[in-house]
Amino acid sequence: MRYIEPHGHMVSRTTDDYIAMVTSGCQAVCEPAFWAGFDRSSAQGFYDYFCQLTEHEPKRAAKFNLPHYSWLCINPKESEDLGLADDVLSIIPDFIDKPNVLGIGEIGLNKNSKNELTVLEKHIQIAAEHDQLILVHTPHLEDKYKGTRMILDALKNDSRIRPERCIIDHVEEHTIGMVLDEGFWAGMTLYPESKCSHSRAIDMLENFGTDRIWMNSACDWGISRPLAVPHAALEMRQRGHQNDWIDKVTFQNPISFMSQSPKFKIKG
Ligand SMILES: [Zn+2]
Repeated sequence: MRYIEPHGHMVSRTTDDYIAMVTSGCQAVCEPAFWAGFDRSSAQGFYDYFCQLTEHEPKRAAKFNLPHYSWLCINPKESEDLGLADDVLSIIPDFIDKPNVLGIGEIGLNKNSKNELTVLEKHIQIAAEHDQLILVHTPHLEDKYKGTRMILDALKNDSRIRPERCIIDHVEEHTIGMVLDEGFWAGMTLYPESKCSHSRAIDMLENFGTDRIWMNSACDWGISRPLAVPHAALEMRQRGHQNDWIDKVTFQNPISFMSQSPKFKIKG
């Protein structure tokens, strides 16, 4: 099979993971900026991280013939500190024209706080001013429904933002409907323990269709599985889905979304 990993935190992974992904058919990996598992102490830490995402990790991926793309932001968890957030926001434009940067992400909300919303709105402004795609992280568990609603409203409040250029990631059964109904793309994150299992993700595809939707593994520093997407493809095959149905969700759809950035070069 062939697939795209549209949301993988490769700075956390080993070279064995790269080999496993490429030999399973991965054709490109896209890496949003996110929380490192600890709070960074200054904007300088983000400067170094953005260098890693735009210079060092693409070189590491290239050793395995894997094109690597990235997204930039200060994640919602560290956005509670408005001073730090402003410092980080001020360096994003220095990196936005790097050849592998597709847009602003993964922005969004964590606890749905006032400060997180303020920083989300500032990111949306940067994306609008620089005509960038947007990748959104939605909150966990009990905060997800309300947070997703707040995020969609914040995106719709800016008339320069077009929903078809935004992907709302980590959707679940109770949020996927509103995301798709309002014209956005939806991402399903396949985790072995939390978020969404393969079976639930495939149930959602069967219920909501295969338009404007992708699946990803996240494969971060926590318990996660870099081969979650090809494993889900196996389950789709076991349920009797045809190759073109599987290829659309795991390969063609990520290409359709990310090709809205002229920097994304993989063709379906
Ligand atoms: Zn992520």
